[in-house]
Amino acid sequence: MTAVRLQGLTKRFGSAIAVDSVDLSIESGEFVVLVGPSGSGKTTCLRMIAGLEAVTSGSIFIGDRDVANIHAKDRDVAMVFQSYALYPHMTVAENLGFALKLRKIPLDEIQRRVNEVAKILGITPELPRKPKTLSGGQQQRVALGRAIVRDPAVFLFDEPLSNLDAKLRVAMRVELVKLHHRLEGTMIYVTHDQVEAMTMADRIVVMHEGRIQQIGAPLAVYDNPENVFVAGFIGSPTMNLLSGELKRRSDRFSFKTGDLELDLPLSHDAAHSGSVTLGVRPEFVSIQPSDDAATLDARIEAVEHLGAETILEMSTAGPPLTARIARNDSIRHGDSIRVGAEHSKILAFDADSGKRLRA
Ligand code: ATP
Repeated sequence: MTAVRLQGLTKRFGSAIAVDSVDLSIESGEFVVLVGPSGSGKTTCLRMIAGLEAVTSGSIFIGDRDVANIHAKDRDVAMVFQSYALYPHMTVAENLGFALKLRKIPLDEIQRRVNEVAKILGITPELPRKPKTLSGGQQQRVALGRAIVRDPAVFLFDEPLSNLDAKLRVAMRVELVKLHHRLEGTMIYVTHDQVEAMTMADRIVVMHEGRIQQIGAPLAVYDNPENVFVAGFIGSPTMNLLSGELKRRSDRFSFKTGDLELDLPLSHDAAHSGSVTLGVRPEFVSIQPSDDAATLDARIEAVEHLGAETILEMSTAGPPLTARIARNDSIRHGDSIRVGAEHSKILAFDADSGKRLRA
């Protein structure tokens, strides 16, 4: 297997900068997901690694070789696209074997590898069929199979599941993770879907405006977002973000946003007077706040029952709040309640730079 290293990778389209000096080391056999909103530069990054987009500046090491100026076909990478890009006039077997045929691999070897990959992906019965007769999920498996059969140094995935319906997407997510364990391949996967990123990646790379915002294991990024962008982007329902002013009192800090005032201990991460954004994950907003919590009055505006969990949308004297609590059958729209979040669960960000503040 092969490591990948991006160094100062940059792409400009005219005066617009799509990828801005990206540095990233991917270990051999690692599953890394580039995640970010539309236009954050993920696809351009992937296409540069694949050799489908010329690099403006920087290096792309695949193993020890800088491939930035090497032709796509000589990079030993295989890419799976959102549109499956199957050849409509070929059978599934011919689609799977096509790249090997181009490489003049002997026919019996092609057959052996095609059969093996079809078995791994559970599409053996589909081998004689044409793509248009297959379901979306089956077509996606064929597209995956075409990459696997080549046994590339690096797999590149560009939103490969986004054309599937929600249920199939979840199933394919699990299959891809299992496939990764089985193949132990280096995989770079692009998605705008943070749930996909969180559930599949060894490490996620959060991108915004062409720049890497944070790199880390999914839960590490979830627990410790380095800036307000990552805090708001990762997690569903999204983190409650409250922008306001902190004032130091003698024995505490007072945070004010709209008509809402919260007390924070002097030791809190937000211990800077001035403009800050406080962040609280919905699961840390409690309807039975402990003594060690910042509390406030709220009114229930909407109750969403998800089965095991209940999501509460609330209005307050300041911005609205979302809470994610264990199933609750009694809470109703219009109820007035007191909610709170433990001080240690309230993150703080600088209002200007968006950077995380720590005590
Ligand atoms: P999406 O999820 O929508 O594909 P993305 O994060 O993958 O978004 P990119 O497709 O990499 O983002 O685009 C990054 C920026 O580069 C965007 O502002 C986009 O408009 C611009 N861009 C991408 N390709 C081109 C191109 N061929 N010509 C001009 N601008 C481009």
